[in-house]
Amino acid sequence: MTDFEGLTALVTGGASGIGRATADLLAARGARVAVLDLDPSGVAGPLRAYTADVTDDTAVRDAVAAAAAGLGGLDVLVNNAGIGAQGTVADNDDAQWHAVLDVNVIGLVRTTRAALPHLRRSAHAAIVNTCSIAATAGLPQRALYSASKGAVLSLTLAMAADHVREGIRVNCVNPGTVDTPWVGRLLAAAPDPAAERAALEARQPTGRLVGAEEVAGAIAYLASPLSGATTGTALAVDGGMQGL
Ligand code: NAD
Repeated sequence: MTDFEGLTALVTGGASGIGRATADLLAARGARVAVLDLDPSGVAGPLRAYTADVTDDTAVRDAVAAAAAGLGGLDVLVNNAGIGAQGTVADNDDAQWHAVLDVNVIGLVRTTRAALPHLRRSAHAAIVNTCSIAATAGLPQRALYSASKGAVLSLTLAMAADHVREGIRVNCVNPGTVDTPWVGRLLAAAPDPAAERAALEARQPTGRLVGAEEVAGAIAYLASPLSGATTGTALAVDGGMQGL
């Protein structure tokens, strides 16, 4: 028997990087899995794909309802869709703040709101949020992104307290620097991408970036009945970079 046999899961931002690795792992472990993404056209195999922008409440509600109907219920929600931002508070204007918080924070709230009625009907309900070491690390040049992930951390704790009596567990993972298309895009924009990657790897205690499948493993643990007594926690997946 596999860990997720008979269970269903929805992964936001599931078309790429950490989300895709998570959707693939949950499916490989026996779950019926749907991904919700801006562009899930590359999603294939056993995964069901739903197109929605997490900043669009109606689209999110429709996609979550369709996913729950298609899967036959919803046991696991992985709130993973997110975007980055660089700069100090002097660099990002109001529009940038609203845009990033709309995806990283309110997007998570919208998806959770839509999923809660389905999760309440599950005997193994779990929400896992993709946070970041940025929530607590005090990283330079990441004011807006760090604030958004600080909110994800606070929301994880608040949601865990609010829903524990309903049998819904809420946890988050705090990844370090993960080798995903997102980081690939950042490296590609550097004057010397290979040198930039080498410098980034040299800053990791492990000498390498975290693998998306390693974050997926932590998410899967927190989503599975194996962590049935764990709620309101943050699990660092950062190669020893920060911890919590
Ligand atoms: P990625 O860019 O490879 O994948 C993100 C996915 O989210 C994409 O498929 C994208 O289409 C989707 N998405 C973005 N905005 C969306 C929206 N408005 N509505 C629906 N879908 C949307 O990125 P990744 O590196 O896999 O990051 C995934 C999550 O992990 C993010 O929340 C990010 O903050 C977090 N994270 C990443 C790292 C890292 O180093 N890569 C580190 C810590 C935390």
